[in-house]
Amino acid sequence: MSDILRERAQFTILRERIGKGQKPLVYLDNAATTQKPLCVEEAAQRYYEQANANIHRGAHYLSRLATEQHEAARQTVADFLHAESAREIIFTSGTTMGINLVSQTLALSGLVGQGDEILVTTDAHHSNIVPWQMLCERTGARLRPIPLTAELSFDFASYEQMLTPRTRLVAVPYISNALGALNPVADIIAAAKRNNPQTLVLVDGAQSTAHLPVNVQELGCDFYAFSGHKIYAPTGTGALWGRAELLEQLPPWLGGGEMISEVSFEKTTYNTLPFKYEAGTPNIGGNILLAEALRYVQRVGLEAIDTHEMALTRRLYDGLAALDGVQILGGRENRGSLISIHVPGVHHYDLGTLLDQMGIAVRTGHHCCQPFMASLGITGTTRYSIALYNNEDDIDRALRATERALNMLR
Ligand code: PLP
Repeated sequence: MSDILRERAQFTILRERIGKGQKPLVYLDNAATTQKPLCVEEAAQRYYEQANANIHRGAHYLSRLATEQHEAARQTVADFLHAESAREIIFTSGTTMGINLVSQTLALSGLVGQGDEILVTTDAHHSNIVPWQMLCERTGARLRPIPLTAELSFDFASYEQMLTPRTRLVAVPYISNALGALNPVADIIAAAKRNNPQTLVLVDGAQSTAHLPVNVQELGCDFYAFSGHKIYAPTGTGALWGRAELLEQLPPWLGGGEMISEVSFEKTTYNTLPFKYEAGTPNIGGNILLAEALRYVQRVGLEAIDTHEMALTRRLYDGLAALDGVQILGGRENRGSLISIHVPGVHHYDLGTLLDQMGIAVRTGHHCCQPFMASLGITGTTRYSIALYNNEDDIDRALRATERALNMLR
């Protein structure tokens, strides 16, 4: 057994039998959220039994211990993303909050103005569309979708034409969640900076962080946001990385708690990075568990994870492509470990429901990508997404079940 296959034992929930039929669980909804390994569960118990207290300003032992663990967790996130410094890591509740933090602070900053342009991909998640629409509403900037090619990949030629002196920000998913496309983010960032070094680039890392090694300094982006729950950590965790000079320049967004330096009724001054952006008591236990999950991923190894997941993805792709009437969104190569299908004449929800009855957990619907679905003229897809603990048996069961379900529905 290859080392990575042994990791399945870390995920107790995968032994569950589900539903009325007590079917063995095949969990292929990892793009929505991943299961949590035992080491994260045990770290939760350790933290709440031995270290729980509010952090900073505490005179007592437990407060110092929790503060130490919390700030060590920040360093773990910084190392994981290859950030220059832990000051550049803002803990958030997930990708959505990270992107909103950037859009809200930009709105307050005056750095985005009337006639500026913000570019996003057509297949972006709503969390990477709506915050920019809100920024546009407040500043008079314009949101422009970058088209996809006929093969549903990033249309680089169109993108380069859309870059102008007015381009203020480009926001792209590293891996798109409805389509699965692995976008050429390094080239996208380089083109934006060539056009205008002042253009900001935000990478939505919600779908990439658990699957690919990320080096924010090498990428050359300005912001990188991700969610803990998609990388084996609890929900309500995540981080935003931003270049220190930008984070220093932007104003804080939420007030109160650790974000202050001095408060008086006349004037309040703000704390230094990263605390300036962390108002209120943070998710202390959650952030410590995020670091535990990142260490877990580092122990398994992102390269091993990628090799394993991509082999399963190709097996799934070939199996789905062989099924009558199944249309796979996007090509076989240059994708993350998720596949969306559309079957003309079959509603995605019906397919998902039948798969559920057979013990297969997939996601159906628009995947928070309504503009992308509208561009395809469909209302949704059935999405299979793979994590490090999936194996060939999961893929083969999902394929057999899909074939059976489609035969029942047609
Ligand atoms: N961006 C992408 C590409 C996603 O897939 C998701 C979640 O599915 C998000 C953003 C939002 O993530 P969260 O709900 O964890 O904030």
